[in-house]
Amino acid sequence: MQYTEITVRYGELSTKGKNRREFIGRLNGNVTKALREFPDLRIYPKRDRMHIALNGTNSDQVMAKLRQVFGIQNFSPSICIRKDLATLKETAVAMMAELAPKIKTFKVNTRRSDHNFELDTNQLNLLLGDLILDHFPDLEAKMKFPDATLRVEVRQDGIYLSSETILGAGGLPVGTAGKAMLMLSGGIDSPVAGYLAMKRGVEIEMVHFFSPPYTSERALAKAKALTAKLAPYVGTIKFIEVPFTEIQEEVKRRVPEGYLMTVQRRFMLRLAAALAEKRQALAIFNGESVGQVASQTLESMVAINDVTTLPVIRPVATMDKNEIIKIAENIDTFDLSILPFEDCCTIFAPPRPKTKPRLDKARFYEAQLDGEALMARALAGVKITEVHSADDFLNTDESTIQSVL
Ligand code: ATP
Ligand code: MG
Repeated sequence: MQYTEITVRYGELSTKGKNRREFIGRLNGNVTKALREFPDLRIYPKRDRMHIALNGTNSDQVMAKLRQVFGIQNFSPSICIRKDLATLKETAVAMMAELAPKIKTFKVNTRRSDHNFELDTNQLNLLLGDLILDHFPDLEAKMKFPDATLRVEVRQDGIYLSSETILGAGGLPVGTAGKAMLMLSGGIDSPVAGYLAMKRGVEIEMVHFFSPPYTSERALAKAKALTAKLAPYVGTIKFIEVPFTEIQEEVKRRVPEGYLMTVQRRFMLRLAAALAEKRQALAIFNGESVGQVASQTLESMVAINDVTTLPVIRPVATMDKNEIIKIAENIDTFDLSILPFEDCCTIFAPPRPKTKPRLDKARFYEAQLDGEALMARALAGVKITEVHSADDFLNTDESTIQSVL
């Protein structure tokens, strides 16, 4: 079916009262960015809905991109025709012809904002319903929970027909909730945390700690590749790489083994907080899940969280690993996350980290280091790149990923 436009419904955004205009403006910007590769589209953000005129562009390709934009409840590809009964009948039958093999029951739902049109909504429902039953005798009309609904809207500028409502990504337009730093490792959990942050409208910048020569270029590339997987939800994401080798070596040298992990994590969080402040971000997100590993017990969180007063938000805190993995598979980060490249934390991980570190001890051991100088040098070595969804950092396609596993 050659559709002429896509009708986008806003979802949660419609309930936001006076912020509505800002929300719609932001969504319009995000949709425009997501659809940048289709130059013929025209986007009309209205108060209740957004209309995207296709001007000949393939609707399937556009819809695949739209699915990833937060703030959209659902959308329908539709056809706009002249306000003429013969054309209406012909189009309704053509649309149902595509659906008929896949469904058993249907209904016609007509709305009319042009009250001068020759037939009213009941008459149109009956006329089109009968016509469809004549053409497709295996179908049945059903008013409650039909398999498909043919929606007909008679407006001033034409009649719009649609038969499909496709679920959007939900959530809030990215950017409406402000900016935060996401601590991104190469693992399964933090990309999922980033996805969930964006879903609530938070713009994120990635903070990634790497420790050459203990970690390889490939491990760094993997974190960037994960960032590229999340980029379609926003267009582009800033990737901030922070050199962490010196801090890890110093910590390893001076801190008793049981507190290596805690003190390292305190430095990571402190650096993320420093970057947040510099870059006007309001919070830090990470991929911690309560009780998953030694550094993620509540006692550990107390001992680590101590270094900042910024909100540290942990979207996957209460999820089981299986639940996190399910989301990782849905957003297609899982296969990358399980690539076996070394991580800066695993390399310096003590064999027996304390599961219940004490805050006073963590502070005491840390005081043995020249923290400020270490921080300053790490921050001086920060490198920021802009990551796009099409960027390929690992130079891999699916088959090479498979061969590494
Ligand atoms: P993930 O799957 O996200 O790596 P994990 O279960 O492996 O999580 P940890 O390695 O203990 O857990 O890390 C906990 C969190 O700390 C991560 O989710 C991430 O937010 C942050 N983190 C760990 N390593 C790094 C790193 N190298 N750079 C940035 N953040 C990191
Ligand atoms: Mg990890």
